[in-house]
Amino acid sequence: MTSPLLDIRGLSKAFGAVQACEDVTLTLERGEIHALIGPNGAGKSTFIKQVAGNLDPDSGRIWFDGRDVTALDTVARARAGLGRTFQVSSLAMEMSVLQNVVLGALGKRGRVLRFFRDVMRDAALLEVAREALNEVGLTGVAGTRVADLSHGQRRQLEVAVALTQSPKAFLMDEPMAGLGGEGSARLTRFLDGLRHRAPILLVEHDMDAVFALADRISVLVYGRIIATGTPDAIRRDPQVRAAYLGD
Ligand code: ADP
Ligand code: MG
Repeated sequence: MTSPLLDIRGLSKAFGAVQACEDVTLTLERGEIHALIGPNGAGKSTFIKQVAGNLDPDSGRIWFDGRDVTALDTVARARAGLGRTFQVSSLAMEMSVLQNVVLGALGKRGRVLRFFRDVMRDAALLEVAREALNEVGLTGVAGTRVADLSHGQRRQLEVAVALTQSPKAFLMDEPMAGLGGEGSARLTRFLDGLRHRAPILLVEHDMDAVFALADRISVLVYGRIIATGTPDAIRRDPQVRAAYLGD
């Protein structure tokens, strides 16, 4: 048996008296979408931030691709192949789609200070950026300002930015947020294809998307995982129904 790509063991994090994450253990296997669901304030974002390296856990360890990454910062984790999209967009709204992706690709090569116009003429960066845009289907809007994109296109653009880092896994915090029914259906289809590129640890409120996409679902309530299983098992779990899904 091969070990999981992402192996998170006993992660705990408190903010003062609030235990936001308590002894959370979870794995992400190659090729899968593992959804993390739970009520507002359950600790989902706190968990994702610890895995991405934005928050230090009080205790616990994070193994990625056979390596203990607990002590690495966000940049080192991204370089190791942990791709991340944010709950709040980190895109530059007044810049074009292509410019955003080129800047993302530049991040990968370290934080070298360069003139913007030189960066935008860098053939290697442009090539990486165009490839990423092609992969998410945004080539047609490469010259469009991000502010003029739909919500769904912005989510796809965030994935394109992450793709320039050649991720081995994706961490996503509520990618469906703010999308209408048609937008989330389209993004659901997109993520369904993306799983073959890299597995996804998906925090999501949209239950239609979660049950359509997830190979496994974990349910977080008050910082603790109360169940992990297939969508069918989770749907039937009496504890989950009582705590979150309702009847
Ligand atoms: P979720 O993403 O599941 O809605 P969060 O991880 O955002 O939940 O929050 C979990 C709990 O931790 C909540 O009670 C929240 O108020 C608290 N919390 C989150 N971030 C902080 C912070 N930076 N400082 C203090 N409390 C926080
Ligand atoms: Mg959250």
